Amino acid sequence: MKCPSCGSLEDRVIDSRTGGDGLSIRRRRACQDCLRRFTTYERIEAHRPLVIKKDGSREPFNRDKILSGLRKACEKRPVSEERLEEAVERIEQTLQERGETEMDARVIGAILVEELKNIDPVAYVRFASVYQEFTDVSEFTRLVTDSDGGDSAGGDSDGGDSAGGDSAGGGSDDEKPRGVKDTDGAP
Ligand SMILES: [Zn+2]
Repeated sequence: MKCPSCGSLEDRVIDSRTGGDGLSIRRRRACQDCLRRFTTYERIEAHRPLVIKKDGSREPFNRDKILSGLRKACEKRPVSEERLEEAVERIEQTLQERGETEMDARVIGAILVEELKNIDPVAYVRFASVYQEFTDVSEFTRLVTDSDGGDSAGGDSDGGDSAGGDSAGGGSDDEKPRGVKDTDGAP
């Protein structure tokens, strides 16, 4: 640690103690060159990935923003606030487990869409159609076609075939994956 007086990098730790909250360690150090004493603190790094937006700019991951997006999608739907909090918790955890310092907004969008699929079919479709603009068509189509395996949104389709077939067909017109809306009977 660079000495604040002389800039020397040679120092000796003369005392270490854990902070009252148990979340930090305080170290007293003595410069080996000028003998000046100084203090450093060591803390656990809060891992907060940067989100890469569509225009390439970065912003810190913001859980409030995610939560308000989910709230909006679930407006007037029978979904409890608690359910949404849990979803955000899981999303945050997923991001942390991946351990990446930066993450594309589209990837986060895809995770959110997955979460909503389990929460509420209508909210899922609402959100998916909004997120379309962040999502490249092939990615979105893949997401939707991957999801045909016995989800509740599909409803009456016993084979799970109609849901998958529709969206695959819709995806082939290079515009937007209209199949999503059709499949789930959006309002
Ligand atoms: Zn010094």
